[in-house]
Amino acid sequence: MTGRPPRPSGPARPGRKAKHDAPAPKAEAKTPAATPRRARGAPKKPPPEAPPSPADPAALTAELLAWYDRHARALPWRVGPAERAQGVRPDPYRVWLSEIMLQQTTVPHAAPYFLRFTETWPTVSDLAAAPDDAVMAAWAGLGYYARARNLLACARAVARDHGGVFPDTEAGLRALPGIGPYTAAAVAAIAHDRPAAVMDGNVERVMARLHAVETPLPEVKPVLHALAARLTPEDRPGDHAQAVMDLGATICAPRSPACGLCPWRDPCAGRAAGIAETLPRKTPKAAKPLRRGVVFVAVNASGAVLLEHRPDRGLLGGTLGLPGDDWDRRGGGEGETPRSDATLAGLAPIKADWRKISAQARHVFTHFQLVLDIMVATTGEESRPAHGAFVPHARAQADRIPTVMRKALLLGLDALGIED
Ligand code: SF4
Repeated sequence: MTGRPPRPSGPARPGRKAKHDAPAPKAEAKTPAATPRRARGAPKKPPPEAPPSPADPAALTAELLAWYDRHARALPWRVGPAERAQGVRPDPYRVWLSEIMLQQTTVPHAAPYFLRFTETWPTVSDLAAAPDDAVMAAWAGLGYYARARNLLACARAVARDHGGVFPDTEAGLRALPGIGPYTAAAVAAIAHDRPAAVMDGNVERVMARLHAVETPLPEVKPVLHALAARLTPEDRPGDHAQAVMDLGATICAPRSPACGLCPWRDPCAGRAAGIAETLPRKTPKAAKPLRRGVVFVAVNASGAVLLEHRPDRGLLGGTLGLPGDDWDRRGGGEGETPRSDATLAGLAPIKADWRKISAQARHVFTHFQLVLDIMVATTGEESRPAHGAFVPHARAQADRIPTVMRKALLLGLDALGIED
């Protein structure tokens, strides 16, 4: 990444190298629900007002687009500004797929998945016709498995109800399964050049800093949306949306904004006030509750591991995983008396000489943190489980199952001394 050198007269501290790809969490929060609910009977609090733009919006947009024309990231799903100027149009399928994958993960993590998906299923109709198992296995490692199920449901709705063509308006896109306000705006803007304000964590951060907005998230979300909408141009709205995202990912990074390289360094109110790095402010989150559970790693004499499909509905629904207790529904892990090894063994799906290993698999989900005890056993070739099936090449299965299951499987296999 190159850029103009920092201006010596600027009040901010010298620009530092930005993280190349700051995580861009893109939660599909429903905007109204993202605002804390008002207690019944309490006086209605007026929404915070959007501050004035620190410069003419058209001038801000022009500066940003000029920067984007020079510095746009090359991304596997992107049609860059030069190609776009020559009339190349983005494929809505690729835009949609990338946006779903990029929710809650980073570009470097999502890119190989995107390339595998588009190689295997080049069109939305190909994806719609794919077996559920194949898509869930290809998704393993991206997390948030409800998204993979919605991905398939959406692809099938586009193939079935729209002849394999994505709608070109936010409203039409919102009517599809798994498409919330964020994805609808992103696909409408990037794929169809609609003037939609695309709000992700990067854009919220840039807007808060550019306008020196100190009201904390999530309360301030509607204000940040209004500010982004005010800057969205009628001409090149798709490039504009991607430019703001790129600015947030490469220059206006969460911890070390490289203001010296920023096209908005002069008008930026947050930089001028010396508070840019502290923005956006956030209301402290309550600690996530703890849940405990157990999973079972059983390997038979030929090195196959016992796995089962989780129910379609619920956490990690429809994915392959280790058998376990009802950890996804249990609560109150904080003060829980640890269950004895015999009690845990009684929950196993197959008779064996079970032992609990000292290592535990830990994972943080959106609403709770999970600690899984791991029971391990080797079984005879003829052993038949009450549910699930033995799958050959135990260690290779780690790549096909969700992250929390992978952690537990690898710890269990290590404890059993199984290398392949
Ligand atoms: S938007 Fe403001 S805080 Fe962010 S990099 Fe640019 S000048 Fe710095």
